[in-house]
Amino acid sequence: MARFVFITGGVVSSLGKGLASAALGALLQARGYSVRLRKLDPYLNVDPGTMSPFEHGEVFVTDDGAETDLDLGHYERFTGVHARGTDSVSSGRIYSNVLEKERRGDYLGKTIQVIPHVTDEIKNWIAIGEDEVDFMLCEIGGTVGDIEGLPFFEAIRQFAQDKERGQCIFMHLTLLPWIAASGELKTKPTQHSVKELRSIGLQPDVLVCRSDQPIPEKEREKIALFCNVRKEDVIAAPDLKSIYEAPLAYHREGLDQAVLDAFRISPAPKPNLDRWLDVQDRLEHAEGEVKVAIVGKYIQLEDAYKSIAEALTHGGLANRTRVKAEWIDSEIFEREDPAPYLEKFNAILVPGGFGERGTEGKIKAAQFAREKKIPYLGICLGMQMAVIEAARNLAGISDAGSEEFDHEAGEKRFEPVVYHLKEWVKGNHTVARKVDDDKGGTMRLGAYTANLTAGSRVAEVYGNTAIEERHRHRYEVDVKYRAALEKQGLQFSGMSPDGRLPEIVEAEDHPWFIGVQFHPELKSKPFAPHPLFADFVRAAVEASRLV
Ligand code: GLN
Repeated sequence: MARFVFITGGVVSSLGKGLASAALGALLQARGYSVRLRKLDPYLNVDPGTMSPFEHGEVFVTDDGAETDLDLGHYERFTGVHARGTDSVSSGRIYSNVLEKERRGDYLGKTIQVIPHVTDEIKNWIAIGEDEVDFMLCEIGGTVGDIEGLPFFEAIRQFAQDKERGQCIFMHLTLLPWIAASGELKTKPTQHSVKELRSIGLQPDVLVCRSDQPIPEKEREKIALFCNVRKEDVIAAPDLKSIYEAPLAYHREGLDQAVLDAFRISPAPKPNLDRWLDVQDRLEHAEGEVKVAIVGKYIQLEDAYKSIAEALTHGGLANRTRVKAEWIDSEIFEREDPAPYLEKFNAILVPGGFGERGTEGKIKAAQFAREKKIPYLGICLGMQMAVIEAARNLAGISDAGSEEFDHEAGEKRFEPVVYHLKEWVKGNHTVARKVDDDKGGTMRLGAYTANLTAGSRVAEVYGNTAIEERHRHRYEVDVKYRAALEKQGLQFSGMSPDGRLPEIVEAEDHPWFIGVQFHPELKSKPFAPHPLFADFVRAAVEASRLV
């Protein structure tokens, strides 16, 4: 039976609750426990799949094909535990389940109410798979006091009541603002936040206090006294240079000890932190720097490509080098020559994306990388753009394009080298989709296997000819162009097992030019960098030595 840690936040948003949760997960693992992390989000979208990356940051895709919150990416990167669709739930999903049951007649005769029907639905989610792990960590999105968060706070209160005493604890994240004028760290917002929590029946067991100053003993005592916790349960969370320092930093501050104490686990198993000590060593002893250009559309918000930025960092760790990623708006290359912008980079990455805007610029970036022999990694749309570029400029299909753009524009302008996939095989069944299907959750989503050509560069990079990677797209490169493109040196070196769907292309006579239809960044971890990112950065290091 799992023990539960509920993680809430107060004072302000963006305090790094997801990171604190992920780091705690890593520390419990270091103590020999199995963990699963879960995110409960109060917003009303059924899932984040239809939210703009500008609004919400990246959509993180799980192996089982769920489109989830980017915090699940943090969880995976810190624990290596593959998230499942059931590890992320929003109010929208909860309400839609409740309403579906109501229509079906499951509650026949009853008046449907937030308590107990919505809270019961939330409690059922929290309990999914509870027998599988030692610790279940559930993070509640938003901040205490948000109207939409209330049913979740009520549900976790009830959940802890329903369980044995001591089976659930509450960890609360707050901010200690520094008032420069008086030279003081202020505890009042934390006191208020805990008061708010207690007014809905939740007493935190552990307080994680973000502050950019060390917490003086006096303030620590004050927080403990007013918030009804022990002094040792007030954990300082200072700002860090790298998020990957978080497990060691939190350990030094006593977070895992405080959590184990709250569960009365004594003696606590000794932690083995080797994995994180190695990551720290690599962070601290990086030599040199490579510059990678990320040519995309959603560049205003870095979180839009969170996993890519992280995977590049991991690639740097693998090579003991720093990776400096710079984001460039692809639309610039629709007006200007890419050379002055891209020349200074050691590698170019074109990430995933949706819609036509900016795609001609991405095609220019792919062309520049191919012709100038700069390492290129194209991910999803970035692979599709590389294929279109080769089709136009090498295979002579001057109107090559993607059906996605024609559908958007409502007219036929392109030869569909990239076409809308309407039917494909998942495991042992066939999935079918229509062009005008709902937008939510209708893509080719989740883990699929691919077979790699023996002797290809990617087979060498992976050290394997069978791989499994996560997908999130509606359109595919049309295999009927394979012969024409391979004749020009763009090899289709990874294919779906049925041989119908191109999964990887790579250019011959090029130091490193690879396009992948899937999202390798989602599976990269600091302690296990994804082979494609590790080798891409290695190629960038090599390119940097040439200049
Ligand atoms: N828009 C493209 C498609 O749907 C690519 C998607 C992506 O890059 N994730 O196929």
